[in-house]
Formats: sequence, C-alpha cells, structure tokens
Amino acid sequence: AGISPFLEPGPRTRPNSLALAHLSRDSIQPVYLQEGSGAVDGYAEGAVINTRFGSFPHSTLLDKPWGSQIRASVVDTGSRGRKRKLNNSVDGEASNTVPGTPTSEVATTKDLKTAPSGFIHILPPTPEIWTTSLPHRTQVVYTPDYSYILHRIRARPGMKIIEAGAGSGSFTHASARAIYNGTPKSAQDARGKVFSFEFNEDRYQKMQKEIEDHRLEGIVEITHRDVYNDGFLVNGESPEAECVFLDLPAPWKALPHLSRRRPTPSELSSIGLDALNTPESEWKCPLRADRTTYLCTFSPCIEQVTKTIDVMRRLGWMEIEMVEVAHRRIIVSRERIGLNLPPNERGMNQTAANVEEAMGKLKEIEGRFKKFHGKTEDTDVNMDDDNDETADTKHVNGNADSKTEDPLSVKPWMAGRLAHRTEPELKTHTSYLVFAVLPQEWTESQEMAAFETWPCGK
Ligand code: SAM
Repeated sequence: AGISPFLEPGPRTRPNSLALAHLSRDSIQPVYLQEGSGAVDGYAEGAVINTRFGSFPHSTLLDKPWGSQIRASVVDTGSRGRKRKLNNSVDGEASNTVPGTPTSEVATTKDLKTAPSGFIHILPPTPEIWTTSLPHRTQVVYTPDYSYILHRIRARPGMKIIEAGAGSGSFTHASARAIYNGTPKSAQDARGKVFSFEFNEDRYQKMQKEIEDHRLEGIVEITHRDVYNDGFLVNGESPEAECVFLDLPAPWKALPHLSRRRPTPSELSSIGLDALNTPESEWKCPLRADRTTYLCTFSPCIEQVTKTIDVMRRLGWMEIEMVEVAHRRIIVSRERIGLNLPPNERGMNQTAANVEEAMGKLKEIEGRFKKFHGKTEDTDVNMDDDNDETADTKHVNGNADSKTEDPLSVKPWMAGRLAHRTEPELKTHTSYLVFAVLPQEWTESQEMAAFETWPCGK
C-alpha cells in the first residue's frame, strides 16, 4: 500500500492514491486516482472526473509530476449515447477555459474532439489543502490555529499526541504530519503517533475510513469513545502521550483523565465533577511520565475558557495562558493624491494624514540612524528599491516642490502616497486557545537516577 501521500507524496501522482484537483483558487476537488482499463460509469476511458472545466480521465492524471497542468479531454461516453453537453465552463463564474470554449451546448462527439477545453492542476495532498477541501462534518480547526497550536504543544517528529474529538479530521492530518518521523527501521523503532478519540459513531466511522484511504494507519489510531467518561487509555494501555489537544465542548470534563495520579471522588466533587468510571485498579496515566506534557484546549466561548482554567489550576496544570489567533488584513496601496489638484481632490483624509505623519517619523528615525553611523548627508526616505531621487520620491515625502511636478512624468507604480490600512474590526473569531503544562513526575527513584548521571554526582 505504501506510506500516506500526505507524508511522502513522492515526485509524481500514483494510482490508488489521493490527489487534489485544483480547479480554481477557491475550488479544490479531492480525487482517488484509479488505474486500470475498462469502462467506469459509462466512460470508455475508465474513471473520469467531471468538472466545470471539462472532463479528465484518471489515465491523463496518472504518473504526472505534482503541480502539472492537465488539459481537459474529449471523453467517450460510450453507452451514454453519441450526444452530450459540454461541461467545461460554468455560467457566470470565472472560467479557466480557453476563451471561446462553447458552454452548455449540445455537441456531437466529433465536435468535442476539436473543441478547445479547460485545464486543472493536480496537487499533492497536504494538511493545509485538505483543510480547505475536506468534507465538513463539524466545525474544523484551520491552518492559522493548528500551526500555532502544534508549535506551542511542541509536537515534533517521533512524539505521541492525544487528540479529542476527531470531528472532520482537519487537526488530525496536521498533527499526523507534525509527528511523523519516517518509516520505522524496526518494530521497536519509536515513532510518532496520533491517538484520536471521537464519540459520535458516524464521524468515527468516516474518520476510520479516511485514515485507511489516506494510508495513515499506524500513524493515526482512532478510538470510538466518550472521553469525559472513559478517558484516553487504548486497549487498557497508556498511549504515553507528550502532548494533548482537546477540541471538545467541555474540555474540563476530560482533564481528570489526564492527571498524573487518579483524582479521588472527593477531590472531583469539590470542583463539581463526577467521579471517574475507571476503577482504581485499572487506572493508568495516559501521559508519558518522564516528560512534561503540553496541552491546548480549543473553545469558542469565554465561559468555556474560565471553567477549563479553573479545573486546570486545581488539577496541577501550570503556565496557563490563553491566546486568540486573530486575522487582520493589512491593505497596502498607493493613494493617488495628485498634489497639483485642488485640495478637495487630494484625498487628504485622515488615513493619508496618518501616513504622512508616519513617514515623517520614519524619516526622522533614519536621520538619527545615519547620524549615529557618522554619515552627515541628508537622506530621504524611500520605501522602494529604486533609489533615484525623482519626483515620485518627493510625492512619497509630501515635498512641497512636487506641487509643480507634472504627475504624468512620475513612474506609474510609484505615483501617489504609500498608504496602509488595517481592517478596523476583527470579523473572524474562531476560538480561544488555552495552553498549559503538566510537569513530569519526579519520584525518589528518578531523583536517584538523576543523581547517578549528574556530572558531579559520583
Ligand atoms: N478538531 C476537529 C477538526 O479539526 O476537524 C473538530 C472537532 S469538533 C469541533 C468536536 C468533536 O468532538 C465532535 O466531532 C464531537 O462529536 C466530539 N466530541 C464531543 N464530545 C466528545 C466526547 N465526550 N468524547 C469524544 N468526542 C467528543
């Protein structure tokens, strides 16, 4: 079967493997490339992807370098009849078809053979692209959040990570790549693994199938489980995880299972939680004992955060910190202020005034910098690569002389005042991220072992 294309895609597309058909910037279609002869779904060519940019038999997508542009084919619909509609363009949408391609008209097979057609690009699966194209079964964690989370919980090749719930598998794929450390040299060879938990039966089944289809077995192990009640052991054994990610409605209910020792019923009732199902004799900590554990919880509401932090503190978690990853677009453009225009057309609005003020400050700082380094000549602030002191630079600096400058003599890409604006409001809120660490266990025997290996210990 081979290793997952998410982890080792190789240089070219392969049969029986996932690829992503990139139709346009906002449209990516996952496709399991199939080899083999014989008609499929009425197509004489075998399996075919039909897109709004045309039809693409899998045979034309196989053994191609990743990133290749593939042109649509004329497909023989065989038993479906001699006439069919061209489907390589869509009404009203930006099309990647060659201009002049006929749309939605009935054509004979003969016509189709000569018709110019559209194209797609064939891309290797990556967690980032998968996140944007996966079938949504739940809310998912997006790339800006999961890249930060995986960095903060120190998910590295060879590590074991616990994740709950699996949901649509967006975080699962990203974490699988983060902990993957190559094909093991032997059965004993330690390697990274994602222990994923999901209590919804349907989502669990779909995730299980996806793990098989994406050849992630052995790297991701999914368990059908309510983690609030039944914790994180797998077949009664500890996953020995070093990092944990909880994307659950009530993460605090899962925390007692992530303790170094089994919390007593009275400890739990004092923090408003139920006693654990697991009998005392079967209790095991799912975390690696000789390492600090790094945890992140992902919650959309601040009430969930306060409850989680409350329970974290009582159960010994430390260095608790909440972070929100916020997206704010910064728009940089040149405002065509046209200094020889009447004031009401100069666009001297508040933003421009702010930019002018910022440019003045920059100039002052640069002046001080140059002075510090012993250069005395007056320098102008020019944000662009082109250093010649031309009218456009003066425009940037709002130089009064430029009032007489002919705007047509200014290089078009440098005409106007360089301005940037940030979006005034944050339009997106995904979730609050709570990070915490649980220190490693420190027993008497570990103290002795540390003493034995300490350079001055003997
Ligand atoms: N992180 C996922 C992703 O990136 O695709 C999305 C997770 S989704 C928001 C939350 C998931 O937690 C749901 O699929 C839900 O069924 C699961 N869940 C809720 N309570 C659970 C529990 N007690 N045990 C296990 N899974 C649970």
